[in-house]
Amino acid sequence: MKDLATLSNGFKSGRIQLKEVDGKIRKQSQILSKRVKNGCNWIKAKTKLNRLYQRKKNIVIDFLHKTTTKIVREFDEIYVGNVNSQLGLKNKYLARTTTDQHWFEFKRQLEYKSDWYDKHFMVVDEKYTSKICSNCEYVTESLELNIRQWICPECKMHHDRDINAACNILTVGTTGLAFSKINTLVGGLGIHDLHRSW
Ligand SMILES: [Zn+2]
Repeated sequence: MKDLATLSNGFKSGRIQLKEVDGKIRKQSQILSKRVKNGCNWIKAKTKLNRLYQRKKNIVIDFLHKTTTKIVREFDEIYVGNVNSQLGLKNKYLARTTTDQHWFEFKRQLEYKSDWYDKHFMVVDEKYTSKICSNCEYVTESLELNIRQWICPECKMHHDRDINAACNILTVGTTGLAFSKINTLVGGLGIHDLHRSW
């Protein structure tokens, strides 16, 4: 599991800590399943379970609000990659994963809070941004998802996978360009093109 968000300055948001509450939910669900439905003890167990679900929801909401407020207050220009939302669109008949939902909500909050604080917010095409060295634009052949760190064979720079991708997203955002398959930036990417499927 990786951080929900990584910024180009190296800041990592951390994960939403749900392990403890998830454990309690699992345990309480088991207790509930052993009770006679609609009996007194069943109702008590059900109420407790509902409270745990509410607590989980609050942890998520709290984390997302704190993180997005911090980012929007601190930075004037915010560029976010579009990959996760594209995955969501492609699989619109399937349920989104929890992480997808959190990411979607995270971006939604960044967008409307940027508006409140009068900051510049933009979703950019993050295609190839993981595989390109942000220092010299060398393109690695393949970068498996489990590889979190890599060294550019060309300029020997040591990369954290997510920070490198975030730096490239910043480049794409500030230049208004996108990476093509080869290691050059290509033009002609307007804001309306950003939401196309690929
Ligand atoms: Zn390099």
